[in-house]
Amino acid sequence: MTQRVPLIAGNWKMHKTGTQAVEAAERLDGLIKEAAGVEVMIAPVHTALYQVSRALKGSAIAVGAQNLHWEQQGAFTGEISAEMIVDAGCSHVIVGHSERRQFFGETDDSVNRKILAAKKAGLVPVFCIGETETQREARETFSVLDKQMQDGLKSFAFEKPSDLVVAYEPVWAIGTGKTATRDQAQEAHQFIRSLLEKLFGKLTADGIRILYGGSVKPDNVEALMEMPDVDGALVGGASLDPETFGKLVLFNQ
Ligand code: PEP
Repeated sequence: MTQRVPLIAGNWKMHKTGTQAVEAAERLDGLIKEAAGVEVMIAPVHTALYQVSRALKGSAIAVGAQNLHWEQQGAFTGEISAEMIVDAGCSHVIVGHSERRQFFGETDDSVNRKILAAKKAGLVPVFCIGETETQREARETFSVLDKQMQDGLKSFAFEKPSDLVVAYEPVWAIGTGKTATRDQAQEAHQFIRSLLEKLFGKLTADGIRILYGGSVKPDNVEALMEMPDVDGALVGGASLDPETFGKLVLFNQ
């Protein structure tokens, strides 16, 4: 079986000024210097990307943005392109987060355009999918994931499995303190990997990292990470404090 290096990613959402983000990033960097066999990414607000990337130069921590526009430039007030994100020093970008779908009208189609634009610019999209509580209760989880995956990844062409990261984030578990059980997470991740296999073949599917997101904390990360198809975590609330996030990164040390 392909060995997938775990990725622990922090989504800082609309928290921390540039100065605060640099302070937290440097503190985190110091705390996880000894981390081995794990990759780390943080996603600060757009205005902090350049500062944080510069502060982390030479560090193993990758920097990502939380959103992008699919066009390279143009009359799109308030938006930011993949090229601009690369220029700010980033390697990753979160796409299709449920908060963007819920509050900013993101659709599977716009998510798809963003994923393709990110790839074209050399960014790794962290592609978020997940069902709402109502959808889970109606037993629609698999059909929702299937549609989000098929539509979101339309025309995506892999050069290597690390070109994409998928994050399974059940909406009912985000910021709610409710975590999916590790069996629920594994069931969804296994299904997502089977979809990836159908779309891109087994070799690619086996190498793609699928992160779990939804109230991940230092006390539940290890159990989740033991599951065979859980390859890391996308962390919101618990990524804001460097000490707590550092514990998550060091989950297996
Ligand atoms: C997220 O926003 O991607 C997330 C998983 O948030 P939290 O960890 O706070 O549930």
